Amino acid sequence: MAGLMEGKRGLVMGVANDHSIAWGIAKALAGQGAELAFTYQGDAFARRVKPLAESVGSRLMLPCDVEDIASVDAVFDALKAEWGSMDFLVHAIGFSDKNELRGRYADTSRENFSRTMVISCFSFTEVTKRAAEMMPNGGSVLTLTYGGSTRVMPNYNVMGVAKAALESSVRYLAMDYGLQGIRVNAISAGPVRTLAGSGVSDARLMFKFQQQHSPLGRTVTIDEVGGSALYLLSDLSAGVTGEVHFVDSGYSIVSMPRLDALKS
Ligand code: NAD
Repeated sequence: MAGLMEGKRGLVMGVANDHSIAWGIAKALAGQGAELAFTYQGDAFARRVKPLAESVGSRLMLPCDVEDIASVDAVFDALKAEWGSMDFLVHAIGFSDKNELRGRYADTSRENFSRTMVISCFSFTEVTKRAAEMMPNGGSVLTLTYGGSTRVMPNYNVMGVAKAALESSVRYLAMDYGLQGIRVNAISAGPVRTLAGSGVSDARLMFKFQQQHSPLGRTVTIDEVGGSALYLLSDLSAGVTGEVHFVDSGYSIVSMPRLDALKS
């Protein structure tokens, strides 16, 4: 089924390197004919993102730190000047001080709580609002979340609280923009070895636990997340909005692990 995204343009935010979930998504979109623009967080990331963007034919690479709202505005000003309108947006951005992604949630500092919420949650609302202004014919917006939003994961702490707020934002934004034909969804991905993922203390153990206890008996790849993102960002999912879609090898349905896994 080639050409699903032919004639569509969109922005991918959150590629740090070729292990990033956003990169898995970008490859799937480009493979179906989408025209892409990318943001990168700073010069250190530019070097890694540039060859990746070029490899999928992208000419637009823009610096953006979502803590600096002027840089967010500059991204959308540049897109307006270059494209005029756009069809989709991928927000794959998250951050928290790794010193607080260990131990107890109760020990989260006020400063890191606010920073985590602004970068990992509120930035999605800010970029969705700006992207929606460029979607006169409707569009599709996607963010990335994790199951630590609704169930307690050791060390995930304030990121879990931020992801809960992010998922709630998906529902409110879906209602705000529904009548404009703009759909807003999230993918809740299982653990993937990325820069952000490795910031959570003992991430290796989380990874192993989900490998052992998910119905598929493995974790997911960025290409698998990319495939589901392609569905949510294309017209195939035209009737879907406000949804948190799990791409986690089925881990989210499990109450008690398979007995064979426990006995081994
Ligand atoms: P990653 O490190 O490859 O990507 C995280 C991105 O966030 C980076 O590109 C980084 O530059 C960007 N970022 C952080 N602070 C920023 C800021 N102030 N301004 C602009 N960009 C900023 O890791 P990833 O795992 O691909 O993360 C992408 C998304 O997927 C995140 O929201 C993450 O929480 C989510 N997620 C990850 C996993 C996992 O196990 N890796 C699982 C579920 C959800």
